[in-house]
Amino acid sequence: MPANRYAIIGYPLGHTMSPFIHSRLFEMSGIKGEYDKLQIAPEELESRFDELRAFDGFNITIPHKQSIIKMCDRIEGAAARYSSVNTVKCSGDEIVGYNTDAAGFLKTFGHCGAYLRGSVLLLGAGGAARTAAYESVRAGCTLSIAVRPSGLFRAEALLRDIMQEYPSAAVNIRTLSDIYGAYDIIINATPVGMYPKTDACPVAEKLIDGCGAVFDLIYNPAETRLLRYARQKGKRVLPGMPMLVWQAAAAHEIWYGASFDKSDIDSLIDDAQRHMEQNFR
Ligand code: NAP
Repeated sequence: MPANRYAIIGYPLGHTMSPFIHSRLFEMSGIKGEYDKLQIAPEELESRFDELRAFDGFNITIPHKQSIIKMCDRIEGAAARYSSVNTVKCSGDEIVGYNTDAAGFLKTFGHCGAYLRGSVLLLGAGGAARTAAYESVRAGCTLSIAVRPSGLFRAEALLRDIMQEYPSAAVNIRTLSDIYGAYDIIINATPVGMYPKTDACPVAEKLIDGCGAVFDLIYNPAETRLLRYARQKGKRVLPGMPMLVWQAAAAHEIWYGASFDKSDIDSLIDDAQRHMEQNFR
């Protein structure tokens, strides 16, 4: 039986955890699946689309998450909400776009025994922050989006988009240098603290003292300085790797109806962490 063919596309692609995680998910499902890496420059995306249609499905990373939309016959659920597609299923002639980031984001709360509720301080207003912002609002949280001055225009655009869809949402914007008060959850959706600049922390420690839980979307390192401090202070901590693995698992649910045991995903998260530490430093 020929293997089902899947891939990740992006530019530049460099180091990516996707082949490791997806190969393991195929193994866990008992599916013979191949998973390739295709580096496709923005100007090549259209001309190489026939090559992509020949796959059973593919994942999309930066910079194609928006530009792929016009090549899909339709986009579903969260992909339409965020105008961002990270998973495509090719079935017959139909190309359907999905977004699994929200599923990965939400699953991480259950995985870590935390709840998305109360007041959320979200650091950043980029692609991943959009998911965190929308899902926080959809969960009924009050949301403060904190950015550096250069990011204010992105935060304002995000605020406008949210308010258009959820007019009664409680959302405000502040700059990173002007955060005060206590929050139930701090979510870091900036790269501050990511390898190799692991000494950096996006907020002052006293802000962490007043919060209940900290979710750092960064997955390299497994424990950022922000998370380390939060753990030492007895806060609930949510690292980035569970989100990465759960959003990948959601793609397999879409592609061929897979379902996974939580215990299998837990061990994949641990293995992915080890793989990253051995190969991405
Ligand atoms: P992005 O679209 O480039 O957004 C980055 C955000 O961080 C922007 O708001 C940017 O602000 C801000 N930022 C960048 N450098 C900063 C600095 N030195 N100080 C303060 N703010 C800064 O990136 P993204 O795709 O959203 O990714 C953000 C982080 O989430 C990355 O660490 C990524 O690895 C992680 N991530 C994790 C997962 C997962 O599954 N765990 C998924 C997606 C992303 P400006 O507008 O001012 O530049």
